[in-house]
Parts: sequence; structure tokens; C-alpha cells
Amino acid sequence: MPLAYLHHPDCLRHEMGRGHPERPDRIHAIEDQLAASQLMDLIRYYEAPLATRQQLARVHDGQYIDQIINHTDKEGSVYLDPDSLLTPQTPQAALRAAGALVYATDLVLTHKHKVAFCNIRPPGHHALRDQAMGFCFFNNVAVGAAHALENYGLNRVAIVDFDVHHGNGTEAIFTDEPRILFCSTFQHPFYPHCGADTVSDHIINVPLPAGTGGEKFRDAVILYWLPALHKFAPQMIFISAGFDAHEDDSISLMRLHEKDYAWVTEEILFIADRYAQGRIVSTLEGGYDLSALGRSVATHLRVLMRMNG
Ligand SMILES: [Zn+2]
Repeated sequence: MPLAYLHHPDCLRHEMGRGHPERPDRIHAIEDQLAASQLMDLIRYYEAPLATRQQLARVHDGQYIDQIINHTDKEGSVYLDPDSLLTPQTPQAALRAAGALVYATDLVLTHKHKVAFCNIRPPGHHALRDQAMGFCFFNNVAVGAAHALENYGLNRVAIVDFDVHHGNGTEAIFTDEPRILFCSTFQHPFYPHCGADTVSDHIINVPLPAGTGGEKFRDAVILYWLPALHKFAPQMIFISAGFDAHEDDSISLMRLHEKDYAWVTEEILFIADRYAQGRIVSTLEGGYDLSALGRSVATHLRVLMRMNG
């Protein structure tokens, strides 16, 4: 069964200005590397649909959804936070990104694919119920996970997030939702400056100091994530796959490499095989060094496609 790969050209049309790190070239860099690695022939391409208002409303406030989706050319571009520019092209891109997660969830839960990857932008894990934040507009992974809970009646869905930034939006949305186990590693102290103090048995936050390399990262995953995942026994796993903890990525001071992303993906796959019938939906979050991003995603997908070794 090939990997389902979801994308839409609308995701390339959202641009937040020259020099902004969250740029369309990120998607191209990934596709170039997948082509160079001859992975494109092994995946099944799906065009991401638009998320519906009802799908978004499971995790976002109605007024906020309207603010984004009703934004038009007439209003031009508006900063919703210092990092997040709402442009006339943003609503379509954000709806495709969230829609990709819904469709990927459908593909996996109707047994058409075991594993799906969403190569989409804008990313989502900082987006709050009623607020854009940190390059994110809709919380894509939360929209997908809520779809798995509400549309398919799952009771235990895990979201693992190895982006270098804390997935504060995902945590905030699911803080009172014990059907979700959220595991996050992140550089701390660092943007968005929260998560280190959270105490909850279904939110497993693992702050890591600047300079953390692969060995300490793996130790933290073994010590904190894996016991929680085994105990929870998820029926499905979502991955907020950000690759900005890579040593070559100048946005952070962490020092992960492709082999660390391969390792953590293998660990997640092991949990998925054991409890979740192998069902994984992974979605792109951060990752701003184009070469490291392309290589890391290719590595991540190779493991998900069981081409390792
Ligand atoms: Zn990030």
C-alpha cells in the first residue's frame, strides 16, 4: 500500500513577504528532494480539498473562522500577529492545509492507506481557537484529530510534535480533551515561551535546552513520550512534523540530524503498529533551511514507507 501524499497548489500562493522564512519554496524544496530520491514514483498523490466550516468549528471559534475565510482582496494584507500576515491568498491556502488533514484522516480510517503525509502550508500547531499565531492560521493537526474523534468515534488519538517550537495551539485546543494524548519536544526557553510548566497526564511536554543534540533528544523521547504512548495505546497517531530543530536550521539552536528524524519516526511507527493498526497521518509544520528540510522530509517518508535498512 503506497503512502498517501496530500498537497494543493493553493498552498504555494500564500506569501507573507520577501525574506519571510515560512515561504512557498519550502514545499518546492521537499518536492525536489523527493523527486531526486526517487520517492515520488512510490507515493500516491491526492489533491487536498477545502476544509468545511463544520470541520474547522470543532476546534476554532466561529467568529475567527469567518474572519479568515471572508478575508478578500478589498482588505489587502493584515498582520494578525507580528509573524502572521493574512493576505487575500491566505484563506484558500489555509483551507486546503486543514482540508488535507481531514482527507488524510479519511484515507487512513477507511483503510485506503495506512500512512499519509500532508505537504502543506501554512503550518498549524501555534494556531489557537480564536487567534492566528507564529505563521499558523488554522490548527491543521487539531482539525484532523478532531475529525478522527467526531466522525469516526475514536477514543484515543495521539499527536506527537517534534517541531523545535512548542505546539502551544494544539495543547490549548485539547487541554480538556482526554481522548487526545499530546506529546511535544521543543527548545526552551524559546518561542512561544510556554509549555514547560504544563502538568497533565495527557499533555506530555518535554522542554529541551538550546544546543540539545540527537542523543539527548532520543533520551527524552524514551523517558517521557514512549511510556505515555504505551500506556495510552492510541488508535491512530498524528505527527506534527516540523524539521526546524535540524542543526542546519538557523531559526533554532538545536542540533538534530536526518538520522534523529529517522529514529523518532521508527519509534512512532512501532507504537502505531502495536496499537493503531499502523495508522499515521503526518503533516508538515516548521523547517526553514531548504536543503535540511528536503533531506529530513525524504528521510521521514522513507521510514514511513518502511524503506529503512
Ligand atoms: Zn517550528
